[in-house]
Amino acid sequence: MIRTGLGYDFHRLVTGRPLMLGGIEIPADKGEEGHSDGDALLHAITDALLGAAALGDIGEFFPPSDPRWKGADSKKLLVAAWNRVLAAGWELENLDCVIALQTPKFLPWREKVCASIAHTLGVGADRVFVKAKTGEGIGPVGTGEAIEVWANCLITREEE
Ligand code: MG
Repeated sequence: MIRTGLGYDFHRLVTGRPLMLGGIEIPADKGEEGHSDGDALLHAITDALLGAAALGDIGEFFPPSDPRWKGADSKKLLVAAWNRVLAAGWELENLDCVIALQTPKFLPWREKVCASIAHTLGVGADRVFVKAKTGEGIGPVGTGEAIEVWANCLITREEE
């Protein structure tokens, strides 16, 4: 059986917060506002994987109203969700993500971010890819007010 999953996340960018992408802190003037560490990339990936397996979504598993997730490391949220997907017998074929971020440049960080995500999921680095686009200076992304992320995954399971 083959399933695809799509995840999306949007966070406001504010001063005084770290910019977290895929579990890596990227030097930047602003970072994601959020209840957890705000890692929009990991949140989108978590939703893609849960959605592909039809197991729920990140808001259900880790409600922002729950004080346990305040400042939480999003890698831990992803691992908890991914363990549920693995327990249902699924394997990750690949994960491909798009970040919409005006600044800073993502390319110098790409290899490190992809490796971090692959390591967190316990898969080979060749199964994870992340690319970035700017907002062309307009809209909430282009003016540096927000970050948007899309994640698409393919998971497979042997059927008896
Ligand atoms: Mg989020």
